[in-house]
Amino acid sequence: METQLNEHDKKNYFQVKSQLNWDQYFMLQAMIASFKSKDPSTKVGAVIVDKNNHQVTMGYNGFVSGIDESKLPWGKDQSASLEHQKYAYVVHAETNAILHSSQDLEGTRAYVTLFPCHECAKLIASSKVSEVIFLSDKYHCTEGNRIAKRIFDLAGIKYRQLEMTSDITGNLNQHMGQLLAEL
Ligand SMILES: [Zn+2]
Repeated sequence: METQLNEHDKKNYFQVKSQLNWDQYFMLQAMIASFKSKDPSTKVGAVIVDKNNHQVTMGYNGFVSGIDESKLPWGKDQSASLEHQKYAYVVHAETNAILHSSQDLEGTRAYVTLFPCHECAKLIASSKVSEVIFLSDKYHCTEGNRIAKRIFDLAGIKYRQLEMTSDITGNLNQHMGQLLAEL
């Protein structure tokens, strides 16, 4: 039998809604992960989550772990030899996320701020990630991008773009401001 509520008690019962759905929540996490990257030109974040919407692992692009970063180039001018370009030493966000996972990634979803390159696509497919949700696909005309999509198609990995509107980031800003104001 349902409890009968008096008028006073009823006041505390009302519908509430999260400001974010799961896609938006995890993309924001990936965006925050990208914020940690030191790369001066391209900051990328990745978050991998399981079927229960639990975050399994995350990563951002950065130099090979454990080596003296001060000796490596952050520049990307390709008139220098590869040895003196960042590309030779940077590990991508998705690869870092996969490397740092202590769990099996089969059936997980990967949220990435930039569509994966073909090298990361190989690892994503080999890890049996089932879906890739991306924010930007700014290299969509390149060969590497076509290869990545070909790998995903052949592996049966779904991919879709997520739009993050400024009202989501605006609400987040407001929320952050509120948290700080409450200190
Ligand atoms: Zn990559």
